Amino acid sequence: MTFQFERTRIDKIPKTAVLAALERVAEHQQFVEFGKRDFDKEARFSSSTVVRTFGAWSSAMEALRDALRRRGIDLKARQKGYYSDRELFAEMERVWVGLGHRPSRFEWEEAKPAISYQTYKRYFGGWQQACLRFLEHRARGGPADPALPEPTTRRQKARPNPARRHARAASREVPAGLRLKVYERDRFRCVFCGRSPISDLTVELHVDHVVPFARRGETVLENLQTLCLKCNLGKADRDDVQQPGV
Ligand SMILES: [Zn+2]
Repeated sequence: MTFQFERTRIDKIPKTAVLAALERVAEHQQFVEFGKRDFDKEARFSSSTVVRTFGAWSSAMEALRDALRRRGIDLKARQKGYYSDRELFAEMERVWVGLGHRPSRFEWEEAKPAISYQTYKRYFGGWQQACLRFLEHRARGGPADPALPEPTTRRQKARPNPARRHARAASREVPAGLRLKVYERDRFRCVFCGRSPISDLTVELHVDHVVPFARRGETVLENLQTLCLKCNLGKADRDDVQQPGV
């Protein structure tokens, strides 16, 4: 009878097989970095084998990251602070501007976002909080990142001929980008009563024509203002009530 010191001979599992197992688990984890416990739950051999093969768990993750990169996949870091506020707000802005109003959970998921709904909830302690923080960020004069295209300059550049400007101004519909610009200028506050979703989430903001569209008021920044739903409904020209915005 022979006594084996080790239960399994580690050299029986080749490095490529260990790496393949790591890749399989990574796939299950939606390509987010994982720990030994996640591995042990899913793989056929123990995470200690991985550690022995690569020297350390972090080295195994490095090897996995390289292997995935060769397949054109990025292994995302797991730690909570992975996304910066700048990234979170930039993605929020992209979806928000596309919709023209605060995204609901369904709308967010429909928009195929780069950052998940759950991630926002986790980071900000809830979806409403996330939206609120975004509004505050915008009201403070965001976007903070100069690399992020300024909607205003981009629009001016993309609007060189007066014919297009006229077509835009002649429509009652306020385009999403312009609507956000009005909100920004008015600091996300109703210009009549001063209420804002920044301090009160029940406040619904709308963009309103100062000179009503029906009376030849144009859909341009100068003729638009931010009103809360209450004040907007209180206005004489009821035709001017916009679709729910923020
Ligand atoms: Zn108001």
